[in-house]
Amino acid sequence: MPALTVIPENRLESMDKYSSLEKRELMDPYTDIKKEFLEIKDDLYSKGLITPFGGNISVRCPDDPGKALVTPSGVYKKFLTPDQILCIDLQGKMLEDSPYKPTSETPIHLAILRARPDVNAVVHTHPVYATAFGVADLEYLPITGDAAMVRELPIVEWTRTGSVESGEIVAGALSNSNYVLIRNHGLFVCGPHLQYASGVTDMIEAICKGLVLCKMMGVNPRVLSAEKVALIQEMMKSHLIQI
Ligand SMILES: [Zn+2]
Repeated sequence: MPALTVIPENRLESMDKYSSLEKRELMDPYTDIKKEFLEIKDDLYSKGLITPFGGNISVRCPDDPGKALVTPSGVYKKFLTPDQILCIDLQGKMLEDSPYKPTSETPIHLAILRARPDVNAVVHTHPVYATAFGVADLEYLPITGDAAMVRELPIVEWTRTGSVESGEIVAGALSNSNYVLIRNHGLFVCGPHLQYASGVTDMIEAICKGLVLCKMMGVNPRVLSAEKVALIQEMMKSHLIQI
């Protein structure tokens, strides 16, 4: 987890030379984690996994597990700036003044962060192929090493976005998994840090793309045997990789 930004005393004394935006960034204890937040958002956005108004991210504050940073609602994601990222507590209370509101899917993010103390980051995306996999009710098959690592893709049914029920259902499904697809909606991935949640999101979308393409070609894909899947999972354990 990136360390908090500490402003050296001599820097505080000479703050006059900084612009108001630079001063805000220098005085923000979450400058580093917000930078990583935006880099991950940019990566997901460039791949079409987060769309202008679809998908959102939350990350636990490095200095306080009872606080989180979340994406605002109604902001075009490509142009999201550090000062638009909102700091809230795990009950959803805003901890700073802002003209923005937390994403409408905040209840799901917070239900996950409350239920899983081991989780520090939640990435929610609207991936085209993973969503198609869910709505077409395709069978999850170990078509690649990545697919063998992911093992299976749990699916829960659509519930009203932002409802308490939606949070309970998704957090419940994530009690024994780090990822779940909401049918007719999108994907939630949680994990120890933003890079994990983003990387597994990318991995799941690539697997689903392979499965959807096989379906579109009308072929039954040749899958890895149970022995090979077991071998891959054993190799993962020896490399301390937990997907
Ligand atoms: Zn969504």
